Amino acid sequence: MVDLITQYEAIKDEVKLSIDNILDNAQFINGPDVHAFKEELESYLGAKHVIPCANGTDALQIAMMALDLKPGDEVITPSYTYIATTEVVGLLRLKPVFVDCDPKTFNISPEEIRKAITPKTKAIVPVHLYGQSCDMEEIMEIAKEHNLYVIEDNAQAIGSNYTFIDGSIKKTGTIGHIGCTSFFPSKNLGGYGDGGAICTNDDNLAVKLKMIASHGQSKRYYHDVVGCNSRLDTIQAAILRIKLRKLDEYIDSRRKAAAFYDQAFANNDKITVPYRCSKTKHVFHQYTLQLDESIDRDALVEYLASKEIPSMIYYPVPAHKQKMFQQLETRCGSLETTDWLTSRVISLPMHTELSEQQLSYISSEVLNFIEKN
Ligand SMILES: *Cc1c(COP(=O)(O)O)cnc(C)c1O
Repeated sequence: MVDLITQYEAIKDEVKLSIDNILDNAQFINGPDVHAFKEELESYLGAKHVIPCANGTDALQIAMMALDLKPGDEVITPSYTYIATTEVVGLLRLKPVFVDCDPKTFNISPEEIRKAITPKTKAIVPVHLYGQSCDMEEIMEIAKEHNLYVIEDNAQAIGSNYTFIDGSIKKTGTIGHIGCTSFFPSKNLGGYGDGGAICTNDDNLAVKLKMIASHGQSKRYYHDVVGCNSRLDTIQAAILRIKLRKLDEYIDSRRKAAAFYDQAFANNDKITVPYRCSKTKHVFHQYTLQLDESIDRDALVEYLASKEIPSMIYYPVPAHKQKMFQQLETRCGSLETTDWLTSRVISLPMHTELSEQQLSYISSEVLNFIEKN
């Protein structure tokens, strides 16, 4: 699904030099690269504060811990997402309220958010799924009306943006009160291990987030609140600095690959290519097709595998159907679209190193299967 080796080849010398330098100085924890990366990411995103942390799941957990929510408070999230988004809600003994997604963008539906709000609702967690922004104008409007926090799960969409009606453009992750992202190796900005970051434009929240990520520490050995230990390693920060400089280039490669797929599947009425919302730049963390009911998805996966083409189902089981949540208190409305999509989607290889030859081979094999069946 990804080709991290070829991508590495192009930056190998720079990465090795950086890592060597860290090894020579033994500054493994909170070395100078961590601070430099924090500042460079702030400037790339146009965010006032970035707080690096250990992974994207921690970022979400720390964000939720900073809002002083009480057990039983309701947090609205999509069910159609990676489990981490909803898991931290359960972990903090908050109540996940699963909301359906838009059938075109697969992102959380603002209309469904409105229907799910109760006096207990405290926060909304929109997930910019596959690399395209949720309808943030609507979501921020709803949040304002009902006095709710918005935590963006930007793990799949770093570098994407959203254009507001007044023409202003903001990067995803910087629109809500807090934005969370992941530097898992296969993410659009991926390290060579785990990593994550939280960002906010709110000075008070920034202080709190930083404190929680560091054992609730206000100054060394003085602990004001119960926090956790979540740091970005210096080595990962150094690698991410190098890759951040190339992020826009990486995004362009992904968008080019997506455009190739789009064109290859354009005239097939059994395949729906990813919808492109005009208000956001799709950064294609995933390229996900929706298959017509007549297509046997398992057979397609198997056929592609027999041609040495990997494919994945993101996600086969939506959050509201996970065993984890059968034991926890949750609430949800109709999740028709979510249930339908989980049975119909398939993601094709998507990364920065796809050649036209590979793209053409992959798409023609998908089409071959569909014609024959
Ligand atoms: C990857 C991902 C996360 C979690 O990130 P980790 O760094 O693996 O903890 C959270 N939410 C979404 C939508 C993701 O894709």
